[in-house]
Amino acid sequence: MNGVGFRAVSANRKSSLRRSEGWCELGVVKYRLQYRRYALPFRSPVRTGHGVWAEREGLIVRLEDEAGVAGYGEAAPIPHFKTETVDAAEAGVRLLGEWTSTEELGELPAGLATLRQAVGAAQERGAAAVGGRDFLGVAALLSAGRAAFAQVGSRVEMGFRVFKWKVGVGDIADELAMLEDLCAELPTGGKLRLDANGAWDRRRAERCLERCAGCPVEFLEQPIAADARGAADVLLGLAGDYPTPVALDESLVGEEDIERWIGAGWPGVYVVKPALLGDARGAMARLAQAKADVVFSSALETAVGAQTALRLALAWPGEPRAVGFGVWPRFVDDRFDGPFAAPFFRAEDVARLNPEDVWSALS
Ligand code: MG
Repeated sequence: MNGVGFRAVSANRKSSLRRSEGWCELGVVKYRLQYRRYALPFRSPVRTGHGVWAEREGLIVRLEDEAGVAGYGEAAPIPHFKTETVDAAEAGVRLLGEWTSTEELGELPAGLATLRQAVGAAQERGAAAVGGRDFLGVAALLSAGRAAFAQVGSRVEMGFRVFKWKVGVGDIADELAMLEDLCAELPTGGKLRLDANGAWDRRRAERCLERCAGCPVEFLEQPIAADARGAADVLLGLAGDYPTPVALDESLVGEEDIERWIGAGWPGVYVVKPALLGDARGAMARLAQAKADVVFSSALETAVGAQTALRLALAWPGEPRAVGFGVWPRFVDDRFDGPFAAPFFRAEDVARLNPEDVWSALS
């Protein structure tokens, strides 16, 4: 794309903008907007309390400014988290058209949170990613059910100390029996985090938390569904009644949820998927101000969204817990993967991810 073509087309476009005088205002940047929609099959389906997930759909957006400098972002909605759908995100980006500006991008509706996040990241181009930590601890993701036993030994040998295991997938009595056996496989000082993805009711959550008291369980994530009747009270009650911390994941879809839980004095952990936050940087600042206990978590996005999220994790000022990004390799086509799961991600591993490679692979 040459600069001359850009200027010619944006000159035509200029007159159709609602506030054409805005072009002359300081701070308004004009962009060429492009996107690619993807549907990427996972190497193996992801089993959670919500069912089986076989492929990841989303959008990569590319914004090129007048100087020809491009930035990339990813809209990676998760349907069962009640984000917008991929279709809605795509409709939003099509409505913007090929020529847009900071002003128009800032007017995207709040309901298109993952798209807002994507265009925000594309405008930043990683510019605000300076500083922060040199590395992040990473949690190893274990398969649900008995399959975890075949994986945990090699992960321990690799050096992982934090492990995540999905529960609420099978019968709870079987899972709690397996829990004790799995904890026995952990190294000294190792921790297991459990994620029920909202599959339980209060009674089953209590059974689990009773059993966790004797195990090195770091926290129990989303024991009951975010939209269950009285969910907030039940979650607050569970968090207050047991020594094992409770974590919110599906209950935190956007900035409003974060604000609500901070207001309720949530005493547990906040699992934050930056991919789902329209203004991820603003939300992280709010959580930091509230001294929230945060775990950064993957939305099973590609390397583009992973880089955005991991940059935020590297910049997080609070006490770091292992990030929930031990998920790659994940895609059948490994050109889309983030950094392969290792006990630590270094800042340079994150910096080395190249969104242009993902873009090229989709072009
Ligand atoms: Mg979760």
